[in-house]
Amino acid sequence: MRKIRAALILIFTLLVSINLSCQKVDQSEKSAEDTMIFPKGWLAPEQFFTSKAYVTGLVENDSVFTMAAGSVLFEAGARSNWHLHPCGQILMVTSGVGYHQIKGQPIEIIRKGDVVKCPPNVDHWHGASKDSSMSHIYILPNTEKGVVEWKAPVTDEEYANL
Ligand code: MN
Repeated sequence: MRKIRAALILIFTLLVSINLSCQKVDQSEKSAEDTMIFPKGWLAPEQFFTSKAYVTGLVENDSVFTMAAGSVLFEAGARSNWHLHPCGQILMVTSGVGYHQIKGQPIEIIRKGDVVKCPPNVDHWHGASKDSSMSHIYILPNTEKGVVEWKAPVTDEEYANL
């Protein structure tokens, strides 16, 4: 009787530990894409992005709301070209780890939960880190004064200059 009880306890313990280890694997395998709140969107134009980024518009500007908002998912290694926004831009990182750089300043590492203000008329770029995808919400205020001016791609040397 004692042996049977001991065997049952052993089996129960094994089942619980197997279940726990499966849950751990599930969580570690979740990528930025799996945990995204908004749709992945469409492939961003390759003349403005290096590697694959996906954009989805969420708020279209109109006569009441003179702003635009959307979500971008950058695959690991993907980034925007250098560009500026005439009225600035706010980024809210929703998953993963990425980079943001203002011209003349070091690359800043940005993570899920970070909020970044890109000042008006300042050259900058944003994208994923080399090992992790990254998604962010963007908010573009005062769209009646312009949205974006695209510039040269971020070279591999610039991207690696952490
Ligand atoms: Mn920007």
